[in-house]
Amino acid sequence: MMQKDPFCGMKVDEKKTKLTSTHDNKTFYFCSAGCKAAFDRDPHKYGHHMT
Ligand SMILES: [Zn+2]
Repeated sequence: MMQKDPFCGMKVDEKKTKLTSTHDNKTFYFCSAGCKAAFDRDPHKYGHHMT
């Protein structure tokens, strides 16, 4: 199942990426360490726009 990187909007394969963050009991997947770092810095800015 493909997940959406909340930072850059890219599709991420959840089985392949090890770059994840949990926020508000949801798991987010990232295409790169830079995207994860940006999300972790300000998760409210990105995490609450997921549908
Ligand atoms: Zn990304």
